Amino acid sequence: MGVTDCHVHINPFWEMRPDALALLGHRDPATARFVREPKAFLDYLDRSGIDRAVLVNYVAPEVIGYTEATNTFASEFAKADPQRLLATGGIRPDHPDPGSEVRRLSRELGLRAIKLHPPHQLFRPNAYVEGGPGRLAELYGACEREQLPVIFHTGTSIFPRARDRFGDPMFVEDVAIDFPKLTIVLAHGGRPLWMTTATFLARRFPNVWLEVSSIPPARLHDYFPALERLSEKVLFGTDWPGPAVPELRANFDAFRALPLSAEVQRRVLEENPLKVFPSRGSR
Ligand SMILES: [Zn+2]
Repeated sequence: MGVTDCHVHINPFWEMRPDALALLGHRDPATARFVREPKAFLDYLDRSGIDRAVLVNYVAPEVIGYTEATNTFASEFAKADPQRLLATGGIRPDHPDPGSEVRRLSRELGLRAIKLHPPHQLFRPNAYVEGGPGRLAELYGACEREQLPVIFHTGTSIFPRARDRFGDPMFVEDVAIDFPKLTIVLAHGGRPLWMTTATFLARRFPNVWLEVSSIPPARLHDYFPALERLSEKVLFGTDWPGPAVPELRANFDAFRALPLSAEVQRRVLEENPLKVFPSRGSR
């Protein structure tokens, strides 16, 4: 077993709108190289002590710039080592035929999860309950059938045009109830406004997981006082190289320096990620 970083952004940055890209001002040439050279990124994972990385990609043309081409990008990138690189892709919430699209993303592109970003895709995760636009219920049903986890961005985003009211994890409650076999990951645990809600949902629903990326590990207990009691439902992730996120190694070391038992550390870093993103075949 090894450590899984459940939230890394290896994205086609060339698709980003200029003002969104400008927010990632610290991006250095090495990072840009990783996006084009999976082998270099794998070496970086080795140097960081990370075995597997969930490559979080999504579709948000209006707000960020990512188009459906991001799915092909993620799929191709992960081919360098599908055991270690777990490609995630996205789908528009108003896709006219989400059933076929999810099947294609799963079976043809080999994606391991679907990332939905309500503040960047400008939709409420439970809009289907009130007969909202699009075929969201079909989308979730298809992910459930394909056993593709859905990673919801929860919490705020400071990118231009992001609408943060959609980031309230309580909107995911209906999805957890209506699709009990769908694996749901609450990325960022609702930070910085809704940690209590995210914690509540992860405790209440067996199919909901709390992922703690983009929060400085040293401050995790401030954000999630119940971290240890909830450790069977918590997933480690960094959100690297998001705004203000330190290097993978620094992030990982800071997590390991927390006063958590070895058992809790192993759960959050290794065992829980394997339950949500099982390994495929032997290494
Ligand atoms: Zn992220």
